[in-house]
Amino acid sequence: MDTIPEILLKQKAFFKSQKTKEVSYRLSLLKALKQEIVSNEQAIYEALKKDFKKSEFETFISEFGLVISELNLVIKNLKKWAKPKRVKSSMLTFPSQDYIYKEPYGSILIIAPWNYPFLLAIEPLIMAIAAGNTVILKPSELTKHTSQLITNIVQKIFPETIAQSIEGGIETATELLAQKWDYIFFTGSVPVGKIVARAAAKHLTPVTLELGGKSPGIIDDTVDLKLAARRISWGKFLNAGQTCIAADYIIVKSNVKDAFIDALKTEIIKRYGVNPKESVDLPRIINKKNLLRLANMLEGSHVIFGGHVDVDACYIAPTLIDVPNLDSKIMSDEIFGPVLPILTYDTEQDIENIIWHYDKPLAFYIFSNNKTFIEQAIKKYSFGGGVVNDLLIHFGNHRLPFGGIGASGMGAYHGKMGFDTFSHHKSISKRGNWIDPSIRYAPYKGKLGLLKKMFKYFS
Ligand code: NAD
Repeated sequence: MDTIPEILLKQKAFFKSQKTKEVSYRLSLLKALKQEIVSNEQAIYEALKKDFKKSEFETFISEFGLVISELNLVIKNLKKWAKPKRVKSSMLTFPSQDYIYKEPYGSILIIAPWNYPFLLAIEPLIMAIAAGNTVILKPSELTKHTSQLITNIVQKIFPETIAQSIEGGIETATELLAQKWDYIFFTGSVPVGKIVARAAAKHLTPVTLELGGKSPGIIDDTVDLKLAARRISWGKFLNAGQTCIAADYIIVKSNVKDAFIDALKTEIIKRYGVNPKESVDLPRIINKKNLLRLANMLEGSHVIFGGHVDVDACYIAPTLIDVPNLDSKIMSDEIFGPVLPILTYDTEQDIENIIWHYDKPLAFYIFSNNKTFIEQAIKKYSFGGGVVNDLLIHFGNHRLPFGGIGASGMGAYHGKMGFDTFSHHKSISKRGNWIDPSIRYAPYKGKLGLLKKMFKYFS
């Protein structure tokens, strides 16, 4: 088997052959990929079930279905997206025809996490290939069955000079990061994001970092609390809370706190029963290490619902925590599990004190019917993206760029934005020869007045 540097060398050589610049070739690869994924639908469900007991329904809605939608979108639009885009010329380029060409970066490294192991590996792969790049993808070592399946699919569809999936853990990732890439796309935790950024800086390689953080959900006293509780019980406990854009904690107006908690308890029981461990719809925590991390966060917390932990089964019940202050263990880090701390506020200053205590989050949720309150919050707080009156659903619109800000990441993708992320936007001005005004040429004597007039006229 080739070593990582050898594989990369072969991909770089192939990229130079210009074959990946043929849009029809990219399309044929993407169509074959779609076909292969469709024929592996059942195998995908089984792999995710083996990895962390994810149900077929959740795998469809949050992995398989999203991948197929993205493939359909790109197959339909690729010719249009890849075409040079004509833009208006300017006074300084006149006479000219000006264009933006979409150029593939070249060799792309994609490093994926375990929490949506199929979606978060395959979606960037689709867009990187669509944009005409070669790819080495490293899926997560924690979801062995899904990663193996990804490797099989990639191996079957792509010549190894175009795309390969290389499985492995930190050692493999470290070796990959030591190579010189044209672009790195990383999804994962903030600490590893910093390692990736440092490795990229060595070669001035551009990066997209899709990271995490503590994403808040605010609930005021103007909403239908039952509806809010229903939507929160869905968005928080989907994937057992192991979702980068899950609400990490809730800040509820104090006068409706008790009613909201009651509504949330009712919803959790409706979804998962009185013994959620028996529910076939609640996935498990990915491994013991993460389970013990969560159990440790729970220590000393005031559990008001759930709290049952079974280490051997990697199980934690949907759990609600009453949080009196921001110094508790549970509020010190991203939770990434089915545990929801509930804080309260009375004034806008209270909300500010909580949200500005943390780095800029990946997501932000506000449940309210007060338009002024909503608009002020959207404009005041800095976050990657958000939803009014629900959780997560902004992820599902390919017209909305998905990405973080500050510590929650940099860059964005989804839909056309994904194609653009993996393309360099190359500006070209095609100069006309039929006229060549002499004003720009020396000697400049007597020309400045006219030049100033022209700048004023055209600006
Ligand atoms: P992680 O950072 O531990 O691992 C992500 C990837 O990095 C894996 O492929 C892993 O093998 C690799 N890796 C781990 N340690 C490394 C090291 N020292 N050097 C180089 N590579 C290394 O993240 P995870 O546990 O797989 O995923 C959970 C995190 O990802 C959470 O913080 C979550 O918020 C975030 N996340 C973000 C998004 C997003 O789209 N913004 C999506 C999913 C998950």
